[in-house]
Amino acid sequence: MNVLVLNAGSSSLKFQVIATDLDRIKQNADERLCRGQVERIGGQAIVTLQSGQGERQKSAAPLRDIGAALGYVLQWLASANSGIPNINSIDDIHAVGNRVVHGGELFSESALITDQVLKGIEDCIDLAPLHNPSNIKGILAARKVFGSKVPQVAVFDTAFYSSLPDHAYLYAIPYHLYQRHRIRRYGFHGTSHRYVAHHYRILRQLTREQTNIITLHLGNGCSAAAIRAGKPIDTSMGMTPLEGLVMGTRSGDLDPSIVNLIATKEGLSTQEVDTLLNTQSGLLGISGLSNDMRVLCDELRQHDDRRVRLAIEIFCWRARKYIGAYLACMNGADAIVFTGGIGENSAAIRTRICAGFEWAGLQLDEQQNQKLIGTQGEISAAGSSLRAYVIPTDEELLIARDTARVILGEPHPS
Ligand code: AMP
Repeated sequence: MNVLVLNAGSSSLKFQVIATDLDRIKQNADERLCRGQVERIGGQAIVTLQSGQGERQKSAAPLRDIGAALGYVLQWLASANSGIPNINSIDDIHAVGNRVVHGGELFSESALITDQVLKGIEDCIDLAPLHNPSNIKGILAARKVFGSKVPQVAVFDTAFYSSLPDHAYLYAIPYHLYQRHRIRRYGFHGTSHRYVAHHYRILRQLTREQTNIITLHLGNGCSAAAIRAGKPIDTSMGMTPLEGLVMGTRSGDLDPSIVNLIATKEGLSTQEVDTLLNTQSGLLGISGLSNDMRVLCDELRQHDDRRVRLAIEIFCWRARKYIGAYLACMNGADAIVFTGGIGENSAAIRTRICAGFEWAGLQLDEQQNQKLIGTQGEISAAGSSLRAYVIPTDEELLIARDTARVILGEPHPS
């Protein structure tokens, strides 16, 4: 079946069409038919479209909302000149898989979207006010175009962590705040960590129970997960995606009293401080230059700027602290797996994060590390008892596969 994968944000719509079904999943023979994104929805939007492995086409179009953006994409999909294999009209789309950021405590796995499920996603808006409303808009836009004859599935970023033990997901604040407001750790990037854990298992021919790894998703957003016997037992992101590692523009962990202090000293509301911690902090905040690790690494190489060096040092230091903590919580792990734009592409950052873990049995193969850019493989030396891997993430593939599995009635596998 051809699955349209949608990731609807506040002003963007990312999509892919992936041909998959239970046989293709078993044989790892899914096929990506096209992909693209619409950015700056609401004004003159920038549209990028790519059929199969063809050239990317960029254009601009006035698109006022997600519905208009989806309409534009579907018109291209169905047009003769898009050249997408096996897609001649929108009737060739058989299902829609939606990325949904927050499933709260309601959704522990991907779900066929019914009115009741939609209501559940709405009920989680309080937990993800910036994300779930856009995800819902994407679902409703697709429903308007396809009607009820094309099933839709929701794949939740939080679902992977539904098995976290209570000692890992509860904060040490009055317990009634959890009972009243569901204040707890939910974790995010779950689809990515789950994909990477699954792929690691395939790569090493292990069972789920044999999978004991620490996964590091280092991209614009960054998170770590401790995965024991194939299931996460802790993760760095919390109630919101602000907690944990240092990110492009997010601070990650900090003393909660700082919020009040900044508000008082800078004359800001707590909402404004929240925005500052989410959008002006992290790599950008420390370096004063950029949230883009590529730019920072180039700057460090060329000018050895002090604040850029500091930003990179703090980024790697925080990642190392989480690895150390997770090694302790897991009673040791078999491997550290890097993914995300930085994890997949920056050998220099991987080197910095892995340096000094010899005590834990990790020995990097620096030649392999330099070689593996954007491709999968092992970067630890032979004989390393704590191994290190790079595994490029593919959240869209997992969303397409989950969509097919839910519709075709296959139980949730991993
Ligand atoms: P993502 O959110 O997964 O797309 O990752 C985006 C981040 O990956 C940005 O900070 C990019 O600068 C970073 N990135 C991509 N390629 C490289 C690279 N070769 N070296 C360092 N950072 C990179």
